Amino acid sequence: MEKINFFGKEIAVLDSADVVIIGGGVAGSVAAISALKEHKSCIIVEKSNALGGTATNGLVMPFMASHVSNMNGLNVELNKDYMKFDPKVFFNGEHENAMFANPVTYAMYHDYKVRSLGGQIYYDATFIESIKDQNNKITHVIAYIHNELYAIKGQVFVDTSAEGLLAKSCGCELMHGNEKRNHVHQSVSLRYEMGGLDKAKLCDWLRSIGYKGFGIAENPQNVEFVRDPSFEDVINKAIENNEVTKDDMRYIQAFRVPGKPNTFAFNGPQLGEKYNPDDPKEYSKCISEGLASIYRYSKFMINHIPGFEKAYITHIASQLGIRESVRVKTIYVLQNEDYTNRARFEDGIAKADWYVDTHSDEPDDEGIEEYSHGEYYEVPYRSLITHECPNLIIGGRIIGASFRVEASVRIQITLRDISEVIGKACAYSIDHNIDLNKIDGKIFKVNY
Ligand SMILES: Cc1cc2nc3c(=O)[nH]c(=O)nc-3n(C[C@H](O)[C@H](O)[C@H](O)COP(=O)(O)OP(=O)(O)OC[C@H]3O[C@@H](n4cnc5c(N)ncnc54)[C@H](O)[C@@H]3O)c2cc1C
Repeated sequence: MEKINFFGKEIAVLDSADVVIIGGGVAGSVAAISALKEHKSCIIVEKSNALGGTATNGLVMPFMASHVSNMNGLNVELNKDYMKFDPKVFFNGEHENAMFANPVTYAMYHDYKVRSLGGQIYYDATFIESIKDQNNKITHVIAYIHNELYAIKGQVFVDTSAEGLLAKSCGCELMHGNEKRNHVHQSVSLRYEMGGLDKAKLCDWLRSIGYKGFGIAENPQNVEFVRDPSFEDVINKAIENNEVTKDDMRYIQAFRVPGKPNTFAFNGPQLGEKYNPDDPKEYSKCISEGLASIYRYSKFMINHIPGFEKAYITHIASQLGIRESVRVKTIYVLQNEDYTNRARFEDGIAKADWYVDTHSDEPDDEGIEEYSHGEYYEVPYRSLITHECPNLIIGGRIIGASFRVEASVRIQITLRDISEVIGKACAYSIDHNIDLNKIDGKIFKVNY
């Protein structure tokens, strides 16, 4: 096996591919599928034992709707394909791409899809560093793969680690948190699921108290609910009795999960803005506080919400729900004005329309309004590439965007549209022998 020197240690070059992707989350998996469809060999280096990242390990569903995403693109093709894999998936009816999936089968699907197209996935593979040549082109990535350090060789590299790890290793600048509020980050959540519910009883109770939130359904299995003034007194009493904290109850949102009857996936508990997920001590604190909060939160549900009497925790996310941590300073960084101006770019490669959803502790002082259906801003190719590294492209929630625009562009549907172009750009770079950061993004201009 070929060896390379890494800080004085000889390490084996385990594998090589045209395209090497760091992080097999939502963005990384779709970038891989797109590159494979362009007939490029592809390796995903993934820290956990599942593809899908925040969607699967973080239990983040559903895919929020976009009214402008590419209806002829991979998004729709993958959703249809996934429906064959798991017919219990469902859509919210509003839009073909607003998908509810079971995170477990979703991870299995991505593994099947990438492998069936000839892709290689390394699980339990933590990216550590990159090796660059004299032009700052990446030649290898170094990863700790199942108990040993290895090198993986590639031609072009994709950073979809959600933390800008590969970009940072190449000297690219990272932007942290809210640039206008002391770099505070968006709220972190640790999501979990409860099973054993009597949803008919819950529905009856919600109706009886005059619940006004979304989610009451004719078929009780389809019920969903959110925190609502109709049961505020129940919450306040439990807070007074020290059964839960005010923070535990800050965000109550329960979604159904396809194929899992009598189950709810909670979009919480939400731990607020006080933690910095970039800080190793605070990251671990988030996990511990999240677990403690889930303990109290689930007991509150069991003890006070009709229908939950026999409920139990079935699943706790193995990945902390980080909405925003770093963004890479790319050649162009999407600005708040680009959102408000519904910006168009010559190299606009995807359309985005989700609202600025910062989950802030304080009201959004920018007053950025939501779009009407059909309105959008474009994501330019330049927000995916950097001056520093010629053969690197960025995907996922870390693309070049301001704090507020990140809170819009990060929804999964939009990230998938962007990743489709990332796969194509990788293939174009190799086929035309042109660096990723020299490609004129106009060739991928949105035409849908
Ligand atoms: C609590 C919460 C609720 C949300 N709600 C919604 C919603 O309802 N609808 C919606 O559409 N969007 C929602 N979002 C946003 C959306 O889920 C994320 O923005 C999106 O999933 C991010 O995708 P990504 O591919 O950039 O990152 P991820 O999916 O997190 O992927 C990053 C991957 O990189 C891997 N990785 C990290 N470090 C390394 C390393 N060193 N080596 C190798 N691999 C590594 C990780 O294991 C992971 O698999 C929510 C986000 C959160 C946190």
